[in-house]
Amino acid sequence: MSARIIDGKKLSAQIKEDVAQRVQALQQKHGIQAGLTVVLVGEDPASQVYVRNKGLACEAAGLKSEIIRLPADTTETKLLALITRLNQDSSVHGILVQLPLPAHLDEHKVIETIAPHKDVDGFHVSNAGMLMTGKPLFAPCTPYGVMKMLESENVTLRGAEAVIVGASNIVGKPMAMLLLAAGATVTLCNSKTRDLAAQTRRADVLVAAVGRPGIITGDMVKPGAVVIDVGINRGADGKLCGDVDFASASAVASAITPVPGGVGPMTIAMLLVNTLEAAERSANISL
Ligand code: NAP
Repeated sequence: MSARIIDGKKLSAQIKEDVAQRVQALQQKHGIQAGLTVVLVGEDPASQVYVRNKGLACEAAGLKSEIIRLPADTTETKLLALITRLNQDSSVHGILVQLPLPAHLDEHKVIETIAPHKDVDGFHVSNAGMLMTGKPLFAPCTPYGVMKMLESENVTLRGAEAVIVGASNIVGKPMAMLLLAAGATVTLCNSKTRDLAAQTRRADVLVAAVGRPGIITGDMVKPGAVVIDVGINRGADGKLCGDVDFASASAVASAITPVPGGVGPMTIAMLLVNTLEAAERSANISL
């Protein structure tokens, strides 16, 4: 069997096109230009690339985008004051603080300072709690993008066995909540999971979000499973790769996401959706 490739580039382009139309409608009918402000502290090279891509995607879809770059030695007081100012600025609908932050800054405190209705990453405890109780204001962009991919492939989630490898606050845990809400029976694995392959082999839908190239191999995949690779790693050859050994897994799975060109582009598309919806909410437009 050779798995169907789930094309995240193509699907994200369709979503961005839809966002662009809604952004224009919001502007024309309500005079509101949806706006995202990204705060980047320090010079982490990967973060700089992510932030630049987010800015470019916003501009392409007609959103106002501002990137505030602060030096690595920025004090917590200064950063929190900036976020408070952005919370009060009605032209800013979404605020994103690029993670990771330099070690002297308390990530939790910083995220908790963002007003929940502008927290387009969906990381604030209030948004995480709303996701858990079934009424999310924002779903975190990466798992939200994965759900859109599964939807576009008409994957049946009700009653399906979904296994997620990786249990971080930003990917694995919210992914579990979204799959659970869609009716799947969810298993969430972490680094202490005793027999990882025994878990993954049960999965109708397998999501890998660990950050270790090749941790999922074809013999760990149930024949016919849908495999979603969230991982973004740099392989020994210097090329981008996921957590899934694509060659062996795609011989067993029914559908699979590539890296690059899979979940990555979807994450940015869903950030635009969340920002647009924050702006629509500010105009009291029913979603
Ligand atoms: P993270 O915070 O480092 O979390 C990794 C998770 O994997 C943890 O829950 C950890 O378990 C678990 N883990 C580690 N080794 C394991 C093992 N041997 N077996 C099972 N689980 C194991 O990482 P993250 O931020 O969630 O990111 C994960 C990957 O996704 C990275 O490659 C990242 O670059 C990528 N990512 C991609 C996107 C995208 O847009 N495509 C977005 C975000 C992240 P413990 O909880 O026990 O430590």
